[in-house]
Amino acid sequence: MMTSPPDQVAQELAALGAAARLLHDDDPLHVRLHRLFDLLREAVDHRDARITCWPQSARPGGARQQFYSADAWPYPWDDGLTRTVAREGVIARRVIALGGGGAGGGRLPAARAAYLGAPIRWGGRLWGVLELRAEHADGLRSASDDLIGGMLPLLAAAIAEEGRRRSDLPTGERASDTPTGLTLRAPDKQRLVALNSSLDAPIDLHDLLSLLLRRALEASGAEAGAVALVDHDQGELVLHTFEGFADDVGVGMPSGPRQRWSLKTGLAGQAALGGRALLVRDVTLEPGIPGAGAGLRAELAAPIMIGDRAAAVIILSSPRSDAFGEDELSFVRALCARVAQPLSRAMHYQEAIESALYLGQVFSSLPTGLALIDINGKVLRSNPAWDLLWGLHGHARHESFHVSLDLIAHLLPRLHEPLGLTEFCDRMQRSPAQDLMVTVRLQHPTQELEVRAVPTRDSKDQITGRLWAVSDVTRERESDRVKGEFVSIVSHELRTPLTSILGYTELLLSRDFSPEERQQFIGTVYTEAERLSQLVEDLLGMSRIEAGKVKLNRWVVSLTNIVYELTTQLNTSLMNHRLLIDIQGEIPPVYADRDKLKQIIFNLLTNAIKYSPGGGEIQLRIHEAQASTLPEDHPEGRWVVVSVRDQGIGIAPEDLARIWERFYRVDNTNTRRIGGTGLGLSITRALVELHGGRIDVESELGRGSRFFFTLPVSNDLARR
Ligand code: ADP
Repeated sequence: MMTSPPDQVAQELAALGAAARLLHDDDPLHVRLHRLFDLLREAVDHRDARITCWPQSARPGGARQQFYSADAWPYPWDDGLTRTVAREGVIARRVIALGGGGAGGGRLPAARAAYLGAPIRWGGRLWGVLELRAEHADGLRSASDDLIGGMLPLLAAAIAEEGRRRSDLPTGERASDTPTGLTLRAPDKQRLVALNSSLDAPIDLHDLLSLLLRRALEASGAEAGAVALVDHDQGELVLHTFEGFADDVGVGMPSGPRQRWSLKTGLAGQAALGGRALLVRDVTLEPGIPGAGAGLRAELAAPIMIGDRAAAVIILSSPRSDAFGEDELSFVRALCARVAQPLSRAMHYQEAIESALYLGQVFSSLPTGLALIDINGKVLRSNPAWDLLWGLHGHARHESFHVSLDLIAHLLPRLHEPLGLTEFCDRMQRSPAQDLMVTVRLQHPTQELEVRAVPTRDSKDQITGRLWAVSDVTRERESDRVKGEFVSIVSHELRTPLTSILGYTELLLSRDFSPEERQQFIGTVYTEAERLSQLVEDLLGMSRIEAGKVKLNRWVVSLTNIVYELTTQLNTSLMNHRLLIDIQGEIPPVYADRDKLKQIIFNLLTNAIKYSPGGGEIQLRIHEAQASTLPEDHPEGRWVVVSVRDQGIGIAPEDLARIWERFYRVDNTNTRRIGGTGLGLSITRALVELHGGRIDVESELGRGSRFFFTLPVSNDLARR
């Protein structure tokens, strides 16, 4: 028994008084004990302290709670010693060996320390054990048995009060009664140190969270665990990684990754909102907390705080209600604190990846053709629409595709004005900082593409190349032009026949004419009405084709029969023309819509007559195509070629590509005199293409033209 000098007695009595007051407080037990630890530190020179207590059962080894003083020593406590003190029932002072291969403290240097263990007994029952350690073997001298002994009944009262309060609670332990987790056992400290470098390594969010969960499961001995990210905007948790849950997981723990649940449901949400770790020993006794799954009882949830907001929550579960205590809570808290910074980095990385992926998806799915081009014109990246709009497939795409070389070379056979695109590429080189635009007109099929090339810059504002954006403006341009042409066609083509019809009928009504004169006037009225009717027919035909309403009624058709019918029909219009029919060899039947085919040939023949006002020879030639004579991009198979040649006015090269457009009429003195709507050829071409064939023209101004188109041989199609 140690005796104390008088002023120490006074000090100790004061300390005891203070201890009595704070232990009698209304605060939770852990708060009171930590204040007691602070008080002890003032009164007794020691390194660290621990209180082990059994609030509800006096059995050492039963459900216990442990509280550690702040700033704990890394050497682990010796539970065996605690049990001895509990068993012997008297204050024990020892010199103990620490570290250097001793249990749990293997990697810490060996040391000798002073130890004091005091059993907290009252009323023949053991309530707990108070233990102190000092760094030197002869330490703890300042701790008089009077002081320690005086504190024991106060502690017993506090622990007993806690036990009563708990057994009063019908729903078991509340989340707020969680141990503090303020102290970290030495092995857990070491675990954290060992984890240090591995937690810094993963940049990938999934890798990091999986590692975190694995370590938390290992250290806590939990049977199941999960990590959820906090979506503050939606007020929800998003399950990210989980392990060990049975298939029939409860509402508190959704069953698949990316599952969401409200922050207001469950312990994890409370931990995230409150910004602190929570522990419930038996969720089945907590009506407010949905269980994580069948058989799971204990649940520990700890937030990972980035700044003052929870970014994620670790959830650990176990079927054992005593699975988690002070040690587990301390470790998980420390782990969460340690992982905050790597988590923040991994989340930023994930965000960057996701936004790059998102932009990539937008890039790929836009209907505008996009290509990133470096300063030299090399395509670095392009989207599917880019290939589609330029008609680039397979061979045209290679590693170092170059716009001014490869693209122009690829388009050359179709480019209306090759110089336009070449000059555009030159301008791009000359003024790299300028926004540029060009319209590229292609033929076979006709296409008008608008290309915009805007400079791209890096983060230092240096020009890195250009973004080419290509859009198909064929329809817009066509409809603009058509609107204009339509008005002029209508004003001319409708007004001319209408004026004659009105004029002649007025004349006929005004007075009597001789039968011959009447016959002549009525004949003119009839011709003009026919012209009007043809115009209306063409307009309707065109709009039906455009609306996709024209359906072919295809069958096996003999071209020879059609030619015979047509020549009989046309005989009257052939004034000073000679019609020559040239059918080469045995022409196989074609697979076509008879009426539409007649319309096609009729249109070509009437044009040949119309546009050779001086007369001359009109040749209709039919032969089976040699595969080698078909254009390269022509569909494969057996084809018949029908051509109509005239010796008329011909077409200038610059008009050749445009005569297929709606309402397009070559504008010269000849054509103005001849009249027409500019619809015939566009209807003809649409009908040929509906049959799967192609139509083209060769012409020389002043010498005549040859229109020719292909039709599929019926046998061939029947075989396919
Ligand atoms: P339309 O004959 O009613 O004007 P088309 O669409 O049939 O309309 O022809 C469009 C244009 O093509 C004509 O305006 C004409 O300038 C030119 N064209 C068509 N066929 C011939 C031809 N056989 N010879 C010369 N020019 C032609």
